[in-house]
Amino acid sequence: MTGRFAPTPSGRMHIGNVYAMLAAWLSSRSCGERMLLRIEDVDKPRVIAGADQLMMDDLRWLGFDWDNADSPMYQSRRTERYEYALECLQNVSMDDSMQSVLYPCFCSRADIRAASAPNEGDGFMVYPGTCRRLLQDHPEEVQARLAQGDQHSMRIAMPQSSPERDASFDDCVYGRQQYDLPREVGDSVIRRADGLFGYQLVVVVDDLDMGVNDIVRGRDLLRSTALQMWIRHCLLAGGFQPEHSASAEAEAGIAAGTATPTYAHLPLIDNASGRRLAKRERSLDMGALRARGVTSEQIIGFCAWLLRLRPTSDPVAAAELLDDFSWQPLHANHPDRALDPEDPNTPQWLADAL
Ligand code: GLU
Repeated sequence: MTGRFAPTPSGRMHIGNVYAMLAAWLSSRSCGERMLLRIEDVDKPRVIAGADQLMMDDLRWLGFDWDNADSPMYQSRRTERYEYALECLQNVSMDDSMQSVLYPCFCSRADIRAASAPNEGDGFMVYPGTCRRLLQDHPEEVQARLAQGDQHSMRIAMPQSSPERDASFDDCVYGRQQYDLPREVGDSVIRRADGLFGYQLVVVVDDLDMGVNDIVRGRDLLRSTALQMWIRHCLLAGGFQPEHSASAEAEAGIAAGTATPTYAHLPLIDNASGRRLAKRERSLDMGALRARGVTSEQIIGFCAWLLRLRPTSDPVAAAELLDDFSWQPLHANHPDRALDPEDPNTPQWLADAL
């Protein structure tokens, strides 16, 4: 198995990021697996210069390690791989038609919002399929718009028939998950209108290229997992060859599409006023906490308690949690967490920052 940390360098890490890192690191290291670091800097407008270095410094200070310390993966250096992935997807046809699963979409965000059903709070908007119908009913209009250089994104079509349309997986924390791809996910952006590759594509390409098969992240990405399983399926069907040098057995599993990763999604952490923690909350970021003399064991101890790995939030080193790590306590108790200054398990250093 191979796990990964995949932080976005959009600011200094906060408690919620440390909690996710701790879970990912324990999941792989407690079984003696490989752990890799990937800097998710594909969305250039969100990247803050130098945030990657501070992140790595904070991670080391917290007691974490990873196997590609000499050459962490940077998405911003992988454009050729994403171009190649796009070519592979172009080879895959939509259901039984001759059309590719990839199609151009000329809709603006406002068009999509106006035509979509309300989403369920994870930021996911199910695309109503406007440009897919345009391509089916008026292919000549699509050709004309492309020829005149109209700005467009590229979307991947969801399968319409069973069994492909049902995406299901067993999550280590949330249990059995089932999504109807066309109804609950919808055709999704693979390349944005500004030319940048979409998160959903690059994560799948990177995980395949790194041989990652142990995926730990926030529960806001549960629905994305269903989508990413479909993208992964299409990439492999389109002849995508992963870059990593895995064992022959793992290669065969990937080629057969059978080696699906294991997934663990984590409850989200809200701040004292019930909003999800964000990197702009400076009082809880690693810079502020370290400057105030909070120790790495204090931070890890609190995160271990959030993961219900320990009954209290007393200080502990990350390495001390390796022997007894299990998903069971979190599986048994997975409502979202709120940082509450009144909770007896909220340490003083944290209550002071809230
Ligand atoms: N970069 C994403 C984040 O910081 C994680 C994406 C993933 O784990 O797939 O939330």
